[in-house]
Amino acid sequence: MTSQALCALSGIEIQKKVASGDVSAVEVTNAFLERITHQDRKLHAFLYVDAEGALAQAATVDRARKAGETLGPLAGVPVALKDNLCTRGVPTTCASKILAGYVPPYDADAVERLRRAGAIAVGKTNMDEFAMGSSNENSAFGPVKNPWDETRAPGGSSGGSAAATASSMASFALGSDTGGSVRQPGAFCGVTALKPTYGRVSRFGLIAFASSLDQIGPFARSVREAARVLSVIAGHDARDATSTTTAVDDYEAECGKEVRGLRVGVVADALGAGVDAEVVKATRAAVAKLAELGCEIVDVSLPHATHALAAYYLIAPAEASSNLARFDGMRYGLRKTGDDLTATYGTTRAEGFGPEVRRRIMLGTYALSAGYYDAFYVKAQKVRTLIRRDYDAAFKKCDVVLTPTSPTTAFKLGEKTSDPLAMYMADIFTLPPSLAGLPAVSIPGGYSADGLPIGLQLTGRAFDEKTLVRVSDAYERASGWLSRRPSEIV
Ligand code: GLN
Repeated sequence: MTSQALCALSGIEIQKKVASGDVSAVEVTNAFLERITHQDRKLHAFLYVDAEGALAQAATVDRARKAGETLGPLAGVPVALKDNLCTRGVPTTCASKILAGYVPPYDADAVERLRRAGAIAVGKTNMDEFAMGSSNENSAFGPVKNPWDETRAPGGSSGGSAAATASSMASFALGSDTGGSVRQPGAFCGVTALKPTYGRVSRFGLIAFASSLDQIGPFARSVREAARVLSVIAGHDARDATSTTTAVDDYEAECGKEVRGLRVGVVADALGAGVDAEVVKATRAAVAKLAELGCEIVDVSLPHATHALAAYYLIAPAEASSNLARFDGMRYGLRKTGDDLTATYGTTRAEGFGPEVRRRIMLGTYALSAGYYDAFYVKAQKVRTLIRRDYDAAFKKCDVVLTPTSPTTAFKLGEKTSDPLAMYMADIFTLPPSLAGLPAVSIPGGYSADGLPIGLQLTGRAFDEKTLVRVSDAYERASGWLSRRPSEIV
């Protein structure tokens, strides 16, 4: 097979071919590495390509096959990893100058599980610095470009992982989602992007942004691939105290099933002011398609969701201000020596962190300070509880909640950089499920007149990723969107 043809295969097909000996994992890896060399010159989705490590892993897979061992469910399948996931012996920077030169001595739990399943880690992907942002423009190393239109943002903060998946530089990718960072770039780049329930995937080795919200999730071109990856990375890990012992389901087994009788909740407010007309139209068409497939459509409301943005921008910066205190020039990465210890802390942090990270640290420190703690932080936590109760009420009437993923399609690079509030608005639909800790997936749900992908977000009950996979896969089959690729991409 030509290397172009290899890169066009799904991860499921690649695993099958590698397991049967049709192609070797080394051949597959070389094909993807070659593709990265060509494509990433324009897209800048990768901060680091680990050709040597990837080929060594691939050789291990090939040796195991020759020895007659049973191969894992992702054997020989190339994966791109967001650069806030620790990778043993491979630089991990969170796209921040403050972590320049940091090489972790261990793998994140999710990365360890992928390796055990035979996946080949080809490199580390670009992101907004410390996962703070919605466009990738907060990367200290320059933004990623959207494979559908290189003048546009890929979304953020996991924009590199989304762009790498959309442009077939890896079969799938991992990202992290605190308030939308898997789903929103997934929507902007036209791929499936799933944020699991809080606690479903271990956060061990994920460099913390906001610990009560962070979750690792997969990007893939199809729902089936995302489902397989979720089965691999999910599960209890004693090294993360918030990781659950709830049993992991066979998510892939949900693919190909019928959805007749499932109840889909539609939030009328999510199709109102501030949402692009084309996004509204696509969402309505998706509702009609699900009805055609036999789903029952019900109206639900999330009355407190309008406060999600305000609550998130208190809680997430508050947690970040505490988590990022560890970057002080002593233990990791950059050190700018000053006259004394305090001066060294100050200059290191002032030079090492970019403007958005500094803004969040200041906001968070303020919200947690004496006198403001009750007024801001505690209030925001109460709003969080009210949002969770809204979902409890909604899930009495429906099995999944459908909204757009983002109010717009991919915006132009530079369009929102001078207005942080406008940038924060990109996450109005992804924030409520995050605050409630619920699983949510973004899937391609149509295209704008200028050919940009539109994302649909489905939110499920806690630990019910199964139903999300089932509905997403049924919609994917019925919609026919799966075959759409960015024009320059095979
Ligand atoms: N865009 C949101 C933010 O800037 C969400 C980020 C994320 O999920 N990591 O905080």
